[in-house]
Amino acid sequence: MYILLLGPPGVGKGTQAKILMKKYNIPQIATGDILRAEVASGSQLGQQVKAIMARGELVSDDIMLQIIEKRLRQPDAQRGFILDGFPRTIPQAQALDRLLAKMNNVILKVIEISAPDEEIIKRITNRRVCERCGKVYNLITNPPPADGRCEVCGGRIIQRPDDTEETVRHRIAVYREKTYPLVAYYRQKGHFHQVNGAQSIEKVAEEIDQIIQKNGALPVQGTSRAQSA
Ligand code: ADP
Ligand code: ADP
Ligand code: ZN
Repeated sequence: MYILLLGPPGVGKGTQAKILMKKYNIPQIATGDILRAEVASGSQLGQQVKAIMARGELVSDDIMLQIIEKRLRQPDAQRGFILDGFPRTIPQAQALDRLLAKMNNVILKVIEISAPDEEIIKRITNRRVCERCGKVYNLITNPPPADGRCEVCGGRIIQRPDDTEETVRHRIAVYREKTYPLVAYYRQKGHFHQVNGAQSIEKVAEEIDQIIQKNGALPVQGTSRAQSA
């Protein structure tokens, strides 16, 4: 099963991706998480992207394509994945199409999650994350433990540097300009679905599940069947 969750910052892509990951046992590929790990490690790439991310700008297509190509080659991505935060530009989507064509022409199910600006600004400015394991909390809907330590790993709970209201507004503008055109791109390619993200986490998950069940988002069978025969 190959799924792409498309939508503005803070709409709940990561939250839904994690639910799908557990349910279908396929990895969540979140390019924001990959980049944050590079920043935390202090790698050359991390140093290169840190300021860009903090400003809420997009990292170059060139860098993103190298990252995604490497990630999609990993063994755990061969039976399916949930893309979260990639692609974010038309050139990235075109490059992804070329990669998928090489991967036995798998069918990518695109699910757009949307919500009004004020709702996603509220969600994002109240988002808190574990510095160590990345677990996502929300001051209103899913508050972290009172001692400020992650319930999973005991790590420190922090606010992402790009989750301030000013930066979020800029990220939304960047989304409109650079990423929103992907809606038209995928709509005309087919396998495109929309979900109202301004509902409870459970309700959004239920609607996503209905889309997957109804449309049987399964990989195209081909060489894998021939190999097992
Ligand atoms: P959110 O899900 O809250 O929108 P992400 O964690 O997906 O945020 O991304 C954080 C930042 O990482 C982005 O604002 C951008 O700077 C960078 N980034 C992540 N994915 C991409 C991508 N596909 N192309 C360019 N930049 C990206
Ligand atoms: P994205 O990956 O799209 O940036 P997240 O999944 O990190 O978004 O969600 C942003 C914030 O909103 C988090 O604090 C999360 O706990 C919260 N959240 C996610 N989905 C919902 C929802 N349906 N209703 C209320 N809060 C939500
Ligand atoms: Zn943690």
